[in-house]
Amino acid sequence: MAAVDASSAKSSANHPPLYVWPQNGDIENRLTGSEWCNCGKCSVMTTPKGCICCRELSAMKNHADECGVQCITENTDFQSVCLNREVLKCAWLQLNDFGVSLGNNVIQMDNRAFRFCAYRQFAIWTVVLHRKDVRKIVPSCVVMKIKELYPDDQP
Ligand SMILES: [Zn+2]
Ligand SMILES: [Zn+2]
Repeated sequence: MAAVDASSAKSSANHPPLYVWPQNGDIENRLTGSEWCNCGKCSVMTTPKGCICCRELSAMKNHADECGVQCITENTDFQSVCLNREVLKCAWLQLNDFGVSLGNNVIQMDNRAFRFCAYRQFAIWTVVLHRKDVRKIVPSCVVMKIKELYPDDQP
């Protein structure tokens, strides 16, 4: 029995490789232009480590390819999980103990709260896709899309 368990564990360890940061020289150069983007939706961000394209995350790239889109933000799964207002409201209530701690403000979400939940949903979804915790990596195109829908300057 033990031998069977060991062999099945071995064959299931076939996860996509974890993202590896580009070499220092490359990452520093990313602030000078968006040539590093292969999805067509990224912008130069304020820090070099923000300049990451969704196509550099292997499992995310594969998922986009399977769905026939170039950028993960065009994928309907991404839109359902990370952008849908009702999903984000539910995430907000879950974060706040089903609204118990919010009292009368239970459905009063401003854009800051929507962005917070959108980033959190994305972090959770990357774990689902990659089967690893890569929550510190948010591609530029994803940041741009969340800010486009839930802008900073609007309540
Ligand atoms: Zn890109
Ligand atoms: Zn992208």
